[in-house]
This record gives sequence, C-alpha cells and structure tokens, in this order.
Amino acid sequence: MKTRQIIFNGVNDWEIRTIDLPPLKENEVLVKVEACGLCTWERDILSGREPADFPFTGGHEIAATVVEKGSNVDPDLKIGAKVAVAKWARCNNCYECRRGFDNHCREAQRPAPAGQAWGPGGFSEYLIAKSYEVFPLPGNNPVHFAALTEPMACVTRSIRRVDLVAGDTAVVIGAGFMGLLFLKLLKLRGIKVVVVQRSAKRRELAKQMGADLVVDPTSQNWVEVIKDFTEGRGAQSIFYTAGGPEMLNQCLKGAAIGGYVLIYAPLFETACLDVDEIHFKELVVLGSVRHDKESVREATSIIGDGLINLEDLNLEFCSFTDFDKALEKAINNRDIHRVLLTWDK
Ligand SMILES: [Zn+2]
Ligand SMILES: [Zn+2]
Repeated sequence: MKTRQIIFNGVNDWEIRTIDLPPLKENEVLVKVEACGLCTWERDILSGREPADFPFTGGHEIAATVVEKGSNVDPDLKIGAKVAVAKWARCNNCYECRRGFDNHCREAQRPAPAGQAWGPGGFSEYLIAKSYEVFPLPGNNPVHFAALTEPMACVTRSIRRVDLVAGDTAVVIGAGFMGLLFLKLLKLRGIKVVVVQRSAKRRELAKQMGADLVVDPTSQNWVEVIKDFTEGRGAQSIFYTAGGPEMLNQCLKGAAIGGYVLIYAPLFETACLDVDEIHFKELVVLGSVRHDKESVREATSIIGDGLINLEDLNLEFCSFTDFDKALEKAINNRDIHRVLLTWDK
C-alpha cells in the first residue's frame, strides 16, 4: 500500500513524497485522512522558529475514516467509520501513564532513530495508527469536524483541571481559535464567560459566540470590570491563552478567593509573579499541556454529537498539493481559525 505524504526535509524545505506503508499489525488501524488541521506547531517547525530534527512528518489534527484494521482491533470499530486520530503514544506502562498523565507518556517523547522521519504524520493520504489512537466520532456531524478534536481535547483537559460549577464566572484571556474553544466549552457547562481581547473584531466574534461580556484590556481596567461583574469577588477560573507576564499578574488579581489561574500558553521566559496574591487569596495556579485520552474521548463526543456550534468557526479548506498557499493563508489571514488540508479539494 502506497501513500502520498508531506515531508519536511529541513527549514522551509518541504515536498510531497510517496512511500510504502508497512503491513498492518494486529493492534493497528489503517485510516484515510479526510482532513488535517495546519497548526502553529508544524508552521514553527517548518520556519525554524521551533528547533527540530528533520525529516519530519507533521499533521496532528487528524480527521479520518477507517479503511482496514488489524486482527486484534475492537470489533465495534467499523470499516468506513468516521474517526479522530490522536497520534500520541500512551504506553500505559511508564510512570507518567500510570500516574494519569498519559499526555506526558515517555514512549511518545522517545526520539526517532537517526535519519528516520518522526512526527504524527497526519499530512498523509493514508496513515497507520495504533487502535488506542483512533476515536470514533458519534453522531451525524461531517467528518472534517473531527480535525478539531485535538485542539478541543487540549481545552477539555484544561477545563477538567479546574474546579468550576454551573453559575460560576470564568475569564478567557485571548479570543483566538483556542480562546473561542474555551468560550464554547465553558458555556456548554453553564459557566458565565468574560472574554478579554484587544482586537475589536475578535471581541465582536466572541460576543456572537456567547460571551456574557467582552472587555478591551487596552481601554478598560479589565480586573475592575470582572470585579464589577462578580459583585466584587473576581472570577472562579481564569484561562490564560495569550498576553505575557504582565497579563498573568493581572489574572492573579482578577481571580476570586480560592480561584484558579490556568496557564494554557507558554511564555518561554521566566516571569515575576505576585506570590502574595497567590498566598493570601489561596489561588491555584496551574498549567495544562496537550491532551490525555479522556480529554480526547470527551472532545469527540462533544464534536460528533453536535453539542456546540462549530459552523460559526472560520475553517478554510486547502489542498495538500497547494501546501505553500495553505501556509500563506494560515500565517497571513488572522480571521481564519483553522486551515484544513485535504487531498481532494
Ligand atoms: Zn494543534
Ligand atoms: Zn507511557
């Protein structure tokens, strides 16, 4: 079986190659990639912004259909089934997997043998995945939405890590693609959501997507606005997706007693945080990276069953064969939430 695949040979050097896929093992599933998101990670590796080894095969936001399965794969997984593929090793044996942090599985972080391509490989026509990496999409939503599973699973995991109940107030800092997913998933849980965002266009979109309040941090003291909104208490959870150290310190100020500040995006620098704000208000400051298997399962269920509206997200289809154009769109058109790559369109 042959497949076309996009391979990065070096910085700003990609090509479409055709490779032979190995025979399917008993616990593996052969899928046809129906759509794959073009995420910042792959773009940063290609541009050299994120140092990485080459050759590299990107594509980790994978929507697919099942073509063939190994002899030991769940009989309930049907040929032709719509699936999300979360290409991430979860060995179930390493310390982190056993401790419930399969998003840090040691197997997944083992370097590929020298000279061999590494990476999730979703920028392919056909792909072999471990059966545990394949998550069936329930319901009637079109298969391309399964490409949103991976980013959404990072969000479902983040939300699971904080203590929020219906009626609480949460703040989302930043209304980019991830910020909007936070907004939609928090609304689904009955949370009042305030979105803090500089761009008027993005604020308007957040409002349309259900934000209870949007705040421009450049013209308003957003911490005071949150206090007014919560009768002086502050927000039970604040999700930081962008903004820098100064914004993080404001998050500490905007959080209620016993509240959570979840750091979703890295700073890539050492920041000075107001520790007494954490101490005296008994705040929980925590991070969340990637997805674990439970968060992927939850995301497929939400997406497949149509529990949130995905139609209002600006998804742009591009052909894998037009990869340069896809990159150009993803980089320069900030209104596009995700470029979805397909082989046919
Ligand atoms: Zn991604
Ligand atoms: Zn493991």
